[in-house]
Amino acid sequence: MSYNKFIMTMLEVKNLNIAFASDDEVLSVVKNVSFSLSKGKLLGIVGESGCGKSVTLMSVLRLLPKNALVNAEYINFNGQNLLNLTEENLQTVRGNKIALIPQDPLTSLNPLYTVGDQIMEVIMLHQKVDKKHARALAIEALRQVNIPEPDRRIDEYPHQFSGGMCQRVIIAMALSCHPDLIIADEPTTALDVTVQAQIMKLFKEIQQKMGTSIILVTHDLALISEVADEVIVMYSGEIAEQAPADVFFSNPKHPYSKGLLASLPKADEDRLCVIEGQPPSIRDRISGCKFHPRCPFAFDRCKAEAPVLEFSDGGHGVSCWLYVKR
Ligand code: SF4
Repeated sequence: MSYNKFIMTMLEVKNLNIAFASDDEVLSVVKNVSFSLSKGKLLGIVGESGCGKSVTLMSVLRLLPKNALVNAEYINFNGQNLLNLTEENLQTVRGNKIALIPQDPLTSLNPLYTVGDQIMEVIMLHQKVDKKHARALAIEALRQVNIPEPDRRIDEYPHQFSGGMCQRVIIAMALSCHPDLIIADEPTTALDVTVQAQIMKLFKEIQQKMGTSIILVTHDLALISEVADEVIVMYSGEIAEQAPADVFFSNPKHPYSKGLLASLPKADEDRLCVIEGQPPSIRDRISGCKFHPRCPFAFDRCKAEAPVLEFSDGGHGVSCWLYVKR
């Protein structure tokens, strides 16, 4: 690893494999996933439900259930392999250095306490400050996420906020500890379309103004198209395509990525394109390329041999036999 890369790379995951064990079987859910995130960049991880994107990120925070079998060469965060940390040391990373923003803001806030109490609790847990100072920091965090009149609204309860405003409160809670990295797992799923776009804009503002690195997990490519610096498309536990966002959106290569992009609503078309078929379940044993039962370009080799992610110039990686010259 070069000196520059060491300085700039905030998170680096190398050859991550995850399986879940039960009494009678072991089911693989993530296979050979590697990626890195540079300081101050926004990475979008996209894929249908069950493709392994959320599990991948929960493994970074080591928040998977006990029956998860996680194997990786390393998961380096700021030069420290998270896999080697004790639970006690991990606690100082979670919340302080890496903040997690969950899917549903409404169920993530306690309806019995004011939003201020909940943000202050997080601040006092992670920083050695008294209540008065914590309140000032909480008001500042609410201001950073564009909540109007934060010094008044800090004393309101979650039911007095809309869904989008509740998500802003959750983001304020995450920001209050000045994390280096925010991981947001489907952060706008429970919100309507207009509010989704506003929350995405807020993430971009946070990245640009505060230099925070962000990973956004979503099933919706349109949502990250305006904000991501890097894109990873996952399918059935593996990376199908990985590229800088401008390269990806101008020249998507993998047939699955193309299908996802074609299925986005367009103003001048009244019919939506769909990717035929369903994503495989983790119990399905599919030979070769896991996308081949749904792929309109599949040929004999696709059914027999699994492609691997290969990178061309410009950091554009694709896992598809159509792009292998041998
Ligand atoms: Fe389609 Fe074959 Fe490429 Fe898989 S390897 S995406 S089946 S063309």
